[in-house]
Amino acid sequence: MVSLTFYGGANEIGGNKILLEDKEARIYLDFGQSFDFGEDYFLDYLQPRSAHGLEVYFEFNLIPKIPRLYSKTMLERTGLKYEKPDIDAVFISHSHSDHVNHISFLDESIPVYMGHGTHQILETYHKLYPQFCDIGEHMQLNFFKLGDKIKVKHLIIEPIHVEHSIPGAYGFIIHTSKGPMIYTGDFRLHGPKSAMTQEFIKKAAESKPYAMLIEGTRMGSDQEHNYTEAEVEGEVNGIIKESKGIVFGYFSMSNIDRFMSFYQATLKNGRKLVIDTKFAYILDCMKDKIPALPDVMTDKDILVYFKLAKSGKYDEKDYFVYERKFMPKMITYDEITKNQKKFAMHMAFNKLMELVYLQPKGADYIYSSSEHFLEGEENEAERTVLENWMKHFGVAFHKVHCSGHASKQDLIETIEKIKPTLLIPIHTQNPHDFEKLHPNVVLPENGKTIEI
Ligand SMILES: [Zn+2]
Ligand SMILES: [Zn+2]
Repeated sequence: MVSLTFYGGANEIGGNKILLEDKEARIYLDFGQSFDFGEDYFLDYLQPRSAHGLEVYFEFNLIPKIPRLYSKTMLERTGLKYEKPDIDAVFISHSHSDHVNHISFLDESIPVYMGHGTHQILETYHKLYPQFCDIGEHMQLNFFKLGDKIKVKHLIIEPIHVEHSIPGAYGFIIHTSKGPMIYTGDFRLHGPKSAMTQEFIKKAAESKPYAMLIEGTRMGSDQEHNYTEAEVEGEVNGIIKESKGIVFGYFSMSNIDRFMSFYQATLKNGRKLVIDTKFAYILDCMKDKIPALPDVMTDKDILVYFKLAKSGKYDEKDYFVYERKFMPKMITYDEITKNQKKFAMHMAFNKLMELVYLQPKGADYIYSSSEHFLEGEENEAERTVLENWMKHFGVAFHKVHCSGHASKQDLIETIEKIKPTLLIPIHTQNPHDFEKLHPNVVLPENGKTIEI
């Protein structure tokens, strides 16, 4: 008997936490945090402290009370007794928080598997943001790569790379006692590395799977134009070309494809790309794993922005140790202000204060991250503040983005190519739409077990 129990990822985008049981073998596919995790009980400064274990989360039923899974320290004061875990392994598809965040609660002895790139990204982010990115202690942290076949009891798990909005993403072919099962993780087919997803689809189809867990983030949005990463680069290029001042861009620092789009467009227009010290650190750490990335230390077209520190002198001791390495690439507001048309600059919402020093004239701001921030009612306050800053400095606002997830059409084609006997839509708010595409759809529910 093969069964799947959903503790997250059913009828929601993200939060994947799926237990696969087959005879004696028990593995989790991802162990992430839902995007709306805790928002009913925690706000601003009302947040659980690191001194708290699972007692706060159990109180509000935010984390499932599963015995033989969590670490001894996390279970203190919870009433749930610590017992030796009965889980054989946890497989992480990629480093987004909705797939990995809750592994910090797991017992240290449970083996955790992830790609080399995923580990590199998590380590880098932990160094920069220890309060947000902490995967906890694991005695057996194993790294896989394409071509590996990992044996867990009688199960064999094959990780195969896919393209997504973060490097190092994988899907899995899991050989169970009933036949191969596919887990897509998060994927897309409209970026520069779509060949990786094509390879995944080909291998998945060749395995003749009896079941497939497929992500369906964009299942409900069939009207929108499916922008490709190449089109994003084209639009960014056009905006930079027309701009009479500095061009600011905002996108996630882990979205390396997007960085490359902005980098290429900046270079095409003979400008220099300015990034902050955190961004420089991330690129520098990822360089080993992604040889196509420009080298921050030697690339003449990348400059590193140093904020004015209290001393006003840009002294080494004014900055964190990790920042000092980039001092030879330093640029300050003073230089940028004098020659604004020569630069494009990464500018996150929380860095807007720099505009007071930069005094932009005829500038443009390109928002190039998920639409979430610009649309949800809950973000109205931030949106108003951003608009006020743009108005105050006369900055023209643009939205240019493409998703990290497959379009509806690409989902349809992926299902047609892989042809699983059974289809299980996850990571979607529109699971019913899959019933129109496949004769044998099983709809999962969080907290429930399905036998397949
Ligand atoms: Zn996800
Ligand atoms: Zn993701």
